[in-house]
Amino acid sequence: MPSFVITEKCDGCKGGDKTACMYICPNDLMVLDANEMKAYNQEPDACWECYSCVKICPQGAIEVRGYSDFVPLGGSVVPMRSSDSIMWTIKFRNGTLKRFKFPIRTTAEGAANEYLDAKGKDLDSELLFTEEADGVTLRTP
Ligand code: SF4
Ligand code: SF4
Repeated sequence: MPSFVITEKCDGCKGGDKTACMYICPNDLMVLDANEMKAYNQEPDACWECYSCVKICPQGAIEVRGYSDFVPLGGSVVPMRSSDSIMWTIKFRNGTLKRFKFPIRTTAEGAANEYLDAKGKDLDSELLFTEEADGVTLRTP
């Protein structure tokens, strides 16, 4: 189920040209009501619940009503980012709380080089990029 904005928390990213949620949504769903300075999901049916807007919102103003395949009905899944990790808080409908903390990628923006591992590789080959020539051994890039 789609993301939604908690309007009391949203500050419209303080009136920037493009709000954080507008910038990050891969489906261009988030828009800003410039009169109210509140963002909203303009096409909930097209939201694929990727959580990108939820994670980037500096005000914690966006939530997703999760499908029951990854969160129990009536529960919530709320991420909180820090500079090196992300904390997921799972709240069950009976009030039980669980928290999981994971490190996040810290490669500086623009520093990733997706072709670094391609040196010496035959990119016209039918093998997968990470597949060895024997066709069996896979390695992580
Ligand atoms: S990122 Fe958060 S605070 Fe900024 S406009 Fe979107 S919902 Fe509002
Ligand atoms: S959950 Fe993903 S697809 Fe849905 S509005 Fe947020 S960023 Fe866009």
